[in-house]
Order: sequence, then C-alpha cells, then structure tokens
Amino acid sequence: MKHAKTIAELQASLVPLRGGATVGLVPTMGAFHEGHLSLFRAAREECDAVVASLFVNPAQFDKGTDLAAYPRDEARDTRLAAAAGVDILFAPTAEELYPPGFQTWVEVEELGWTLEGRFRPGHFRGVATICLKLFNIVQPDRAYFGQKDAQQAAIVRRLVRDLNIPVEIRVLPTVRDADGLALSSRNVRLSAEQRRQAQALPLALATRDPNKARELLEGLEVDYLEVADFEPRVLAGAIRLGDIRLIDNVLLEDAVPGFNLAPPTEKGVT
Ligand code: AMP
Repeated sequence: MKHAKTIAELQASLVPLRGGATVGLVPTMGAFHEGHLSLFRAAREECDAVVASLFVNPAQFDKGTDLAAYPRDEARDTRLAAAAGVDILFAPTAEELYPPGFQTWVEVEELGWTLEGRFRPGHFRGVATICLKLFNIVQPDRAYFGQKDAQQAAIVRRLVRDLNIPVEIRVLPTVRDADGLALSSRNVRLSAEQRRQAQALPLALATRDPNKARELLEGLEVDYLEVADFEPRVLAGAIRLGDIRLIDNVLLEDAVPGFNLAPPTEKGVT
C-alpha cells in the first residue's frame, strides 16, 4: 500500500493504477473499525484500484472540543487499510486541503439544515465541501459511504446529482457490535455505564415506530428522533451521553438501487 501525504503524491501514485481501471474512493476520518473495513472490502471487490482518504476534516466540526477529542491512530489505521486491500492511503494535513486563503464552500441547502444540520450548524457544508474536493482530487469511478450516516449519504447523493459529478455513490449497511450498537469511532470514549445506556438507541430504532422509540429513550438526552425521507426512508435518532453524541438509523423501506451492495452499475450517477 502506498501512503500519500500530498495531493501531488496521491496523483502520482494513481497514474500507473488508472489506465482504463476503475478507481474506488472511501472517504474516512480514521480510527478504523469494521464499518470502515466493510467499505474498503466492497471497494476492493468492485474496483481495480482502491483509495482511502484519512482526514479529520476540521470544517465539519462545529465544536473545537469534539475535533480535539476525535481519536487518531494513523499507524494502526495504516496496518488495517493495507490488510483490507487498500492500494493508496491518502492522509493529508489540514493545510494541504485548506491552504491559506481558502474560501470556497459547497452547501446542500434544505437537506443539510434538518436533523443533524440543526444540531451541528455548518457540519454538512464541511462534509459536502470535503467530498467535492476529494472527488476532484481522486476522480474516482465509485465512492463508498456507510448507511450509518444516512443524512450524509443523502447529502452526497444530492451533491453528485446537483453538480453533475461523474461518480457512482455506493452506500453500504451499518455494521453493529453484538449488543446492537452501531460501530462508531466515538464509541471508544464511552464509559461502561454510558455504553449500557447507548444500547437503548438501536433498541428504540428497531421498533421502527417513532412513538414507541421515544418511550424507550425516556430519561436520555435525545437531540431528535424522526422519520426522514432520505431515499430510502429511515427512522433516525441522535442522543447525547455526556459530551459524546451518537447517531443511528434504521431503514423503513426497501433500499433503492445503489444502496446496500446492489450490483455496481457502469460509471455514472445513480
Ligand atoms: P467516518 O470515519 O466516521 O467519517 O466514517 C467513514 C465512512 O464510514 C462513512 O461513510 C461512514 O458512514 C462509514 N461508517 C462509519 N461507521 C459505520 C458503521 N458502523 N457501519 C457502516 N459504515 C460506517
């Protein structure tokens, strides 16, 4: 596996891989777990070359404390990405992606202002901007995202449609721990008691009924629990345990093409 720190290094490493081959991109913020690895494996199966980006994007954190507390372990991530078959790990600095004078942002408007957007102002502007930058830098045929972040996946699909970006968006199912909790890089910060409380979220969502789910979450700090029409429709929720915020969702209808390991289509927007 090649390790690229700069855009120039990444693009030089891609030249010998590209010639007619399909390139898959998996954007991540590191602290890899089985959720990330499932995306790497899907990209490995469906593409000739796999690029994973590892970048804790400051532009999508509305709170400096959350950014500072975000777990980082690049040496471990490098080992896991290599073992999962990633060809190039792109791990740039913030200065590489946001050089002095940077001032251009992309905003997916209404979709980015609901649910997570209400509680994390500016978050999806940061997400949309970094995804567009990564699409332009890597020029992948396919890009892989997790259903765990359902609103993010919906926003990226909207961005790609609205701006005619020639990339196929693939969304893969949420990977969960045995206790039902969706894997998240933030889970490592939960105390044993918080972890026990967190299990209420997947249990509540599994009812697929907002009223029953709200009952099961009584006593917890719930930011929202709502049905959202993200194509497919989901029941989505966010809770806070101390300074840790957890999000999760379940599908309320069958997946649409492009979701959940449907066979890949020819290069193009789904
Ligand atoms: P992150 O590093 O948290 O930005 O996540 C990188 C990608 O992995 C995003 O597309 C996430 O939706 C996806 N992801 C995170 N957690 C999971 C999970 N438990 N199952 C599946 N995908 C996930």
